[in-house]
Amino acid sequence: MPVPSRMHTQALALVVLLAAALAVPGSHPAAAARAWQVTEVSEADLARLSRGPVIRVGFQTRGREPIALPLEVYVAQVLSAEGEPNAADGAAQSLAVAIRTYALFNISRHQRDGYDLCATTHCQVLRGSSAASRRAAYATAGLVLSYHGAPADLYYSASCGGHTERAADVWPGVSLPYLDAVEDDVHADDATWTFERSLDDIRGAMARAGVRGRRLDDVVVETRTASGRVGRVGLPGLEPASMNSNEFRLALGPTELRSTAFTVTRSGDRLTFTGRGYGHGVGMCVIGAGRRARRGESTADILKAYYPGLKISVGSTDPTGFDVVVNATPLGMKEGDPLPVDVSRISPAAFVGEVVMKQEITPFLAAARERGCAIQIGTDMLFEQIPAYLEFFGFRTTTPDELRTIAQISY
Ligand SMILES: [Zn+2]
Ligand SMILES: [Zn+2]
Repeated sequence: MPVPSRMHTQALALVVLLAAALAVPGSHPAAAARAWQVTEVSEADLARLSRGPVIRVGFQTRGREPIALPLEVYVAQVLSAEGEPNAADGAAQSLAVAIRTYALFNISRHQRDGYDLCATTHCQVLRGSSAASRRAAYATAGLVLSYHGAPADLYYSASCGGHTERAADVWPGVSLPYLDAVEDDVHADDATWTFERSLDDIRGAMARAGVRGRRLDDVVVETRTASGRVGRVGLPGLEPASMNSNEFRLALGPTELRSTAFTVTRSGDRLTFTGRGYGHGVGMCVIGAGRRARRGESTADILKAYYPGLKISVGSTDPTGFDVVVNATPLGMKEGDPLPVDVSRISPAAFVGEVVMKQEITPFLAAARERGCAIQIGTDMLFEQIPAYLEFFGFRTTTPDELRTIAQISY
């Protein structure tokens, strides 16, 4: 689970992103049907599909050299480590988008170490990819969550326990308005955890974290955040006698005190913490995403629930190397519009399609035709799809050519 390395005080304005072009690589036999059905995906497929930077991953193990992974291979390997093993597709795909976004935002985090991201919880843990993690990376290839037109600074955590946490309440000074506290109504049946320690053990852990004092009299909850988590912890007898609960948790060990959503009771010199959830609780909750997917929520529903205010967009719209390019955006329709992709980078051998039906030759199609590409107008898409729809729903079917002869289209 990633944690932030620096403070963000900048307040960014929200911008609306237009969905970018859907570019389908033709080199993979399953690619044409990517949205419909994908059975087996290999890391070689993911490497071919990868756009954007190669991720250099460093291992904090002596003598182990950094490795370079194409972006989508990296996403599949992190998903295998950070995700639930048998998560439903919507959950795996949502986490794949978050992992990819995290990687692109934090790409220069370990620049001074000679690589991009480390393989520990400081950045994102990875392990060998699985068939399911490769499928999820493949299905979401190139998709990122954007803020202000660029990959967003975001986090995710194992289990929020019922309410996610506002980023600024965990890391004071972090101002990311889309990482707000939101209710997660899939945790009603969660069991609570307990953690027990003596006052003296806790004093020892605090001393190792630099908090002075020979005696700890008690541990008290001073404030609670909007999500109900502990905000500040009172430590009477120590100096300072109050601490941010996230620092308190890290000082005790984040796998011991599993979250800051706890209550504390004292019996003699023993303290019992009873809590819910696991992790800092900021952003997507991996357990919750799994439950949402199982009750029928889509990838987009899940991402919207945990990252309200972020837009899903395609990280790269470079059409180089694609055999089929379809414009599914509202760009390139009118004279003078910016085109959805750099047409000079489309191969003349590529097939270029448009879904717009208001006019036949859009400026985008005109530019592609000029480059020598085979093109397909928007209404053609319709004629090709109608027979497939009819067949799917069990109606008497027809042919695209038959439709073309009887259709009356006025622009
Ligand atoms: Zn790191
Ligand atoms: Zn949750």
